[in-house]
Amino acid sequence: MTYDNANIFAKILRGEIPCHKVYEDQDTIAFMDIMPQAPGHMLVVPKAASRNLLDADPATLGKLMAVVQKVAVAAKAAFAADGVRISQFNEAPAGQTVFHLHVHVIPMHEGQRLGHHGGKQEDGAVLAANAEKMKATLAKV
Ligand code: AMP
Repeated sequence: MTYDNANIFAKILRGEIPCHKVYEDQDTIAFMDIMPQAPGHMLVVPKAASRNLLDADPATLGKLMAVVQKVAVAAKAAFAADGVRISQFNEAPAGQTVFHLHVHVIPMHEGQRLGHHGGKQEDGAVLAANAEKMKATLAKV
Protein backbone atom coordinates (compact mmCIF):
# COMPACT_ATOMS: atom_id res chain seq x y z
CA MET A 1 0.00 0.00 0.00
CA THR A 2 1.43 3.38 -0.95
CA TYR A 3 0.81 6.86 0.41
CA ASP A 4 -1.56 8.96 -1.72
CA ASN A 5 -0.84 12.67 -1.24
CA ALA A 6 -4.34 13.58 -2.48
CA ASN A 7 -5.84 12.42 0.85
CA ILE A 8 -7.86 14.99 2.80
CA PHE A 9 -5.34 15.44 5.65
CA ALA A 10 -2.50 16.02 3.16
CA LYS A 11 -4.70 18.76 1.65
CA ILE A 12 -5.26 20.26 5.13
CA LEU A 13 -1.49 20.14 5.80
CA ARG A 14 -0.81 21.94 2.49
CA GLY A 15 -3.44 24.56 3.39
CA GLU A 16 -5.61 23.61 0.40
CA ILE A 17 -8.68 23.01 2.56
CA PRO A 18 -9.52 24.60 5.93
CA CYS A 19 -9.64 23.04 9.36
CA HIS A 20 -10.43 24.18 12.91
CA LYS A 21 -6.83 24.06 14.14
CA VAL A 22 -6.08 23.83 17.86
CA TYR A 23 -2.31 23.21 17.86
CA GLU A 24 0.66 23.29 15.51
CA ASP A 25 4.41 22.82 15.85
CA GLN A 26 7.21 21.93 13.43
CA ASP A 27 6.18 18.27 13.15
CA THR A 28 2.54 17.99 14.19
CA ILE A 29 -0.88 19.60 13.84
CA ALA A 30 -4.12 19.02 15.77
CA PHE A 31 -7.60 20.05 14.64
CA MET A 32 -11.27 19.37 15.38
CA ASP A 33 -12.78 16.24 13.84
CA ILE A 34 -15.48 17.42 11.45
CA MET A 35 -17.78 14.50 12.43
CA PRO A 36 -17.16 14.33 16.20
CA GLN A 37 -18.13 11.19 18.08
CA ALA A 38 -18.38 13.41 21.18
CA PRO A 39 -18.02 17.18 21.73
CA GLY A 40 -14.33 18.12 21.57
CA HIS A 41 -13.26 15.16 19.40
CA MET A 42 -9.88 16.06 17.84
CA LEU A 43 -7.32 14.54 15.50
CA VAL A 44 -3.57 14.78 16.02
CA VAL A 45 -1.69 14.48 12.73
CA PRO A 46 2.04 14.30 11.97
CA LYS A 47 3.24 16.45 9.07
CA ALA A 48 5.45 13.60 7.83
CA ALA A 49 3.69 11.44 5.25
CA SER A 50 2.66 7.88 6.13
CA ARG A 51 -0.57 5.95 5.55
CA ASN A 52 -0.84 4.98 9.22
CA LEU A 53 1.16 3.65 12.18
CA LEU A 54 2.32 0.57 10.25
CA ASP A 55 4.55 2.48 7.81
CA ALA A 56 5.45 5.47 10.03
CA ASP A 57 8.98 6.40 11.10
CA PRO A 58 9.32 5.56 14.84
CA ALA A 59 10.77 9.04 15.42
CA THR A 60 7.55 10.50 13.98
CA LEU A 61 5.50 8.35 16.35
CA GLY A 62 7.49 9.59 19.34
CA LYS A 63 6.85 13.24 18.52
CA LEU A 64 3.21 12.49 17.65
CA MET A 65 2.46 10.77 20.96
CA ALA A 66 4.02 13.62 22.94
CA VAL A 67 1.49 15.96 21.27
CA VAL A 68 -1.33 13.44 21.78
CA GLN A 69 -0.57 13.57 25.51
CA LYS A 70 -0.48 17.37 25.56
CA VAL A 71 -3.79 17.60 23.66
CA ALA A 72 -5.43 14.89 25.81
CA VAL A 73 -4.49 16.64 29.07
CA ALA A 74 -5.81 19.96 27.72
CA ALA A 75 -8.97 18.30 26.35
CA LYS A 76 -9.81 16.83 29.76
CA ALA A 77 -9.59 20.29 31.29
CA ALA A 78 -11.21 22.25 28.42
CA PHE A 79 -14.28 19.99 28.19
CA ALA A 80 -14.47 19.11 31.92
CA ALA A 81 -14.16 15.45 30.89
CA ASP A 82 -13.93 12.47 33.24
CA GLY A 83 -11.59 10.63 30.87
CA VAL A 84 -10.09 10.76 27.39
CA ARG A 85 -10.28 8.07 24.71
CA ILE A 86 -7.34 7.72 22.32
CA SER A 87 -7.91 5.66 19.18
CA GLN A 88 -6.07 5.01 15.96
CA PHE A 89 -6.99 2.78 12.99
CA ASN A 90 -4.73 1.05 10.47
CA GLU A 91 -6.19 0.19 7.03
CA ALA A 92 -9.85 -0.01 6.02
CA PRO A 93 -10.73 -3.36 7.69
CA ALA A 94 -9.63 -1.79 11.00
CA GLY A 95 -11.84 1.27 10.45
CA GLN A 96 -9.41 3.68 8.78
CA THR A 97 -11.07 6.03 6.28
CA VAL A 98 -8.40 8.72 5.78
CA PHE A 99 -5.02 7.34 4.76
CA HIS A 100 -2.62 9.76 6.46
CA LEU A 101 -1.60 8.76 10.00
CA HIS A 102 -3.77 10.35 12.70
CA VAL A 103 -4.73 9.77 16.33
CA HIS A 104 -8.24 10.47 17.68
CA VAL A 105 -8.50 12.30 21.03
CA ILE A 106 -12.04 12.12 22.44
CA PRO A 107 -13.06 13.71 25.76
CA MET A 108 -15.36 11.30 27.63
CA HIS A 109 -17.93 11.90 30.36
CA GLU A 110 -19.26 9.43 32.89
CA GLY A 111 -22.09 7.39 31.36
CA GLN A 112 -21.60 8.94 27.90
CA ARG A 113 -22.14 6.82 24.78
CA LEU A 114 -20.06 7.66 21.72
CA GLY A 115 -21.71 8.67 18.45
CA HIS A 116 -21.01 6.72 15.26
CA HIS A 117 -17.53 6.85 13.78
CA GLY A 118 -17.84 9.16 10.74
CA GLY A 119 -21.46 9.92 11.66
CA LYS A 120 -22.86 13.43 11.34
CA GLN A 121 -21.01 16.59 10.29
CA GLU A 122 -20.92 19.17 13.12
CA ASP A 123 -21.93 22.79 12.72
CA GLY A 124 -18.91 24.99 11.85
CA ALA A 125 -19.71 27.45 14.65
CA VAL A 126 -19.65 24.64 17.24
CA LEU A 127 -16.31 23.35 15.92
CA ALA A 128 -14.89 26.89 15.95
CA ALA A 129 -16.05 27.47 19.54
CA ASN A 130 -14.56 24.14 20.68
CA ALA A 131 -11.27 24.95 18.92
CA GLU A 132 -11.13 28.32 20.73
CA LYS A 133 -11.80 26.60 24.06
CA MET A 134 -8.94 24.17 23.39
CA LYS A 135 -6.52 26.87 22.26
CA ALA A 136 -7.21 28.89 25.40
CA THR A 137 -6.61 25.81 27.58
CA LEU A 138 -3.44 24.79 25.71
CA ALA A 139 -2.07 28.28 26.27
CA LYS A 140 -2.38 27.70 30.04
CA VAL A 141 -1.11 24.10 30.46
P1 AMP B 1 -10.31 7.23 10.52
O1 AMP B 1 -11.46 6.29 10.38
O2 AMP B 1 -9.49 6.98 11.74
O3 AMP B 1 -9.51 7.29 9.23
O4 AMP B 1 -10.97 8.63 10.79
C1 AMP B 1 -10.95 9.73 9.95
C2 AMP B 1 -11.60 10.84 10.70
O5 AMP B 1 -11.41 12.02 9.96
C3 AMP B 1 -13.10 10.68 10.93
O6 AMP B 1 -13.37 10.74 12.32
C4 AMP B 1 -13.71 11.87 10.17
O7 AMP B 1 -14.80 12.42 10.84
C5 AMP B 1 -12.54 12.84 10.12
N1 AMP B 1 -12.52 13.75 8.98
C6 AMP B 1 -12.74 13.47 7.68
N2 AMP B 1 -12.59 14.57 6.92
C7 AMP B 1 -12.26 15.58 7.77
C8 AMP B 1 -11.97 16.97 7.60
N3 AMP B 1 -12.01 17.55 6.41
N4 AMP B 1 -11.67 17.69 8.71
C9 AMP B 1 -11.64 17.12 9.92
N5 AMP B 1 -11.90 15.82 10.15
C10 AMP B 1 -12.21 15.07 9.08
